[in-house]
Amino acid sequence: MNIVVCVKQVPDSAAQLTVEGGNISWGEAPLVINPWDEYAVEAALQKAGDLGGNVTVISMGKADETEALKHSLAMGCNEAVLISDPALAGSDNVAAARVLAAAIAKVDDVGLVFFGKQAIDSDTGTLPAQVARVLGWPTLTLVSAIDELSADGIKVERAIEEGRQVVKSRLPAVVSVIKDYGEPRYPSFMGIRKAARATIPVWALGELGIEAPAPVVAWPEVMAPQQREIATELITGGSPAEIAATLADKIMAEKVL
Ligand SMILES: Cc1cc2nc3c(=O)[nH]c(=O)nc-3n(C[C@H](O)[C@H](O)[C@H](O)COP(=O)(O)OP(=O)(O)OC[C@H]3O[C@@H](n4cnc5c(N)ncnc54)[C@H](O)[C@@H]3O)c2cc1C
Repeated sequence: MNIVVCVKQVPDSAAQLTVEGGNISWGEAPLVINPWDEYAVEAALQKAGDLGGNVTVISMGKADETEALKHSLAMGCNEAVLISDPALAGSDNVAAARVLAAAIAKVDDVGLVFFGKQAIDSDTGTLPAQVARVLGWPTLTLVSAIDELSADGIKVERAIEEGRQVVKSRLPAVVSVIKDYGEPRYPSFMGIRKAARATIPVWALGELGIEAPAPVVAWPEVMAPQQREIATELITGGSPAEIAATLADKIMAEKVL
């Protein structure tokens, strides 16, 4: 059984985003693997290690967007594929789901597809469920642990607001993982060297046998959040009790409580 993991390349979380005339820019800030997707790569590598089988990492992006794929290869993934085609510019989530599903269907004997819980730039968190729907496979979202996995099926724990939920499903299935899954490994030195030398195949829509899906969702307006004035005050005092009392007075005076 082989495993696919989907990763997105996003601006570094420290990047200063600007919005002008509806266009978003992160200037010269580097593009990195979406931080949530490192947990998905970790889960994929652990499960492939337990069961045997290859891990293929797939990303849809522009022709030069290979950093996230190289990072995943350096962590230990066996194969990487970039899906890129000029006709995909302006793709919405529905289009991205159709394209990723077509790419997953091209990989042999896939039993599990891992995703991160959301991308930190567009932040919809919808793609895992959308891809599963196109494939006709079950989706297990917000997974914090995989308790059982065999060719027959998977049993996972989902972290939801009310607590933990245990869910069983047949395979193949799509799984999105959260931070509780466990710290992602650091790329090894050998892995970094291997990834630096890797030539990543690029699949265009022709290779996937599909046409560019027409977008159905539009972004009519994108606005920067309103600037807020923030003042910081350091409270000092002779003892923790005195500092706490001053803080409590200030909180009451500001009518926060
Ligand atoms: C009208 C419109 C136009 C857009 N135009 C563009 C555009 O020109 N260029 C552009 O880059 N984006 C564009 N987008 C955004 C793009 O459609 C989304 O980024 C994409 O559909 C994924 O949604 P998300 O980022 O919210 O991912 P989420 O659903 O939040 O991501 C969940 C998980 O899915 C996986 N994932 C997300 N994106 C990818 C990917 N591309 N490849 C592999 N795995 C992935 C990751 O594991 C991630 O953790 C556009 C969106 C709209 C609505």
